[in-house]
Amino acid sequence: MAILLALGLLQVTLIKPYFRDQRVSSIELVAELIEDDLLHKDNFTKTDVDNTFSMILNNDMCAIVLSENGHVIYEGDALGATCAFDQMTTIGEERFVPKNDPKRLMASVSDDNILNTSIISAISDQEMVLYGKKISGDLSNYYLFINSPIEPVESYIELFMGQYYIVAFFVFLAAIGMSLILARRMTSPIVKIKNEANKLSRGDYEVDFTIDSYTEINDLAKTLENTSKELATVDELRKDLIANVSHDIKTPLTMIKAYSEMIKDISGDDKVKRNAHLDVILEETDYLNKLVDDMRDVSKLQAGQQILYRTNFDMKDTIERIIDHYRGGILKDSHIKVKTELTSSVVWADEMAISRVISNFLSNAIKYSFDDSEILIRMIDSEDHLKVEVIDDGKGIAESELPYIWTRYYKIDKGFTRSANSTGLGLAIAKAILEAHGARYGVVSKVNVGSTFWFELSKDYDGLSQGN
Ligand code: ADP
Repeated sequence: MAILLALGLLQVTLIKPYFRDQRVSSIELVAELIEDDLLHKDNFTKTDVDNTFSMILNNDMCAIVLSENGHVIYEGDALGATCAFDQMTTIGEERFVPKNDPKRLMASVSDDNILNTSIISAISDQEMVLYGKKISGDLSNYYLFINSPIEPVESYIELFMGQYYIVAFFVFLAAIGMSLILARRMTSPIVKIKNEANKLSRGDYEVDFTIDSYTEINDLAKTLENTSKELATVDELRKDLIANVSHDIKTPLTMIKAYSEMIKDISGDDKVKRNAHLDVILEETDYLNKLVDDMRDVSKLQAGQQILYRTNFDMKDTIERIIDHYRGGILKDSHIKVKTELTSSVVWADEMAISRVISNFLSNAIKYSFDDSEILIRMIDSEDHLKVEVIDDGKGIAESELPYIWTRYYKIDKGFTRSANSTGLGLAIAKAILEAHGARYGVVSKVNVGSTFWFELSKDYDGLSQGN
């Protein structure tokens, strides 16, 4: 706005001198032509001078040439009534009609003094230039006076100012409009962020920080968005934990309490019964132990706190060790057969963690198989990947359940196989371990046909592109 104002002022102050200079330049040009005619033509005729003076008619001027004794020798007039030479005119301090008092007019110029002054026309009230010059010739001297109005500057200024006000008005409106738009663009995302942050502080995690604003505000919104997601996850984990832990701990505790009471009141003296009841208590205690361990592991893994200790190890050896362990334990009294299709293949991974995954897949296959089932553990070795599959022909998983089995505490049949090995956390731990390795994994299953749980490790030996 200030720039616009300054521009307007500058135009108004510069326009007058500009028009005056223009006028003086054309007067000087005419003066030169007349001087040339008077002095430098050997035998100039009246026609020569007339021709020059006729130019004056086209130039909005009037001019007179006076001889040394004050006689008008030539004159030209394109102004008519407004020509200052016929009017009462103020030149310097004096006021007179120049044509009637030529000597006074001549006094205003001298050999080295050119008259170039502004006067106000008595007739039109218009600003005019009065120009005068002494022309020294060989034989005699002449005095040349030219009078010309400066262009009607005021009307130009008026026109200009009119346009200027209109332009200034629209520029002003546009500036206000733009400032409002800019202010809204700046403030509305901040107001939205503030409102969403308020919701967050009230524990409402259904917040939306998506905005389209300037980089810094977008960054702030993104940070808050991430924070709210983390808070929501933590909150969900907390609720999950309380709900599941209270449920999963309550059941074994109830059992332990009930069996303890039974020992106290009924079976205390009956060794066989007492031992059977104590076995239940021990089993439930084992379950509680495993539950607490699994909970701690899954929390650590999901929080990314578990560090992977990668080494190069042969997957075939690892799988065989796990199967041996099962054959010496749970499989000893079972009809379930475990077959293998293994080849020697070295991978770069955390052996303990991967063992845990295979062990979980295998123990599930055993748990959810029928008595005479057969389980196959197969390695599929390709150039840059190693796939491990644990295939059973057990009870299978319904398609609708498949997306949830990797979730914490998810058990399809809450009543089925409640043992120290079944906490509903096994696959959640496997998932977290495999994701930390950057491995692909999955399950293919059909009810009463069987399940194939698999994972695929990259044989990327620098280990840099896989997790930490
Ligand atoms: P759990 O400790 O209950 O076995 P997991 O997380 O290991 O917990 O498995 C989650 C659920 O997925 C199990 O409760 C079971 O219903 C289902 N499941 C896992 N493996 C198999 C399998 N091989 N066959 C059928 N169901 C399975």
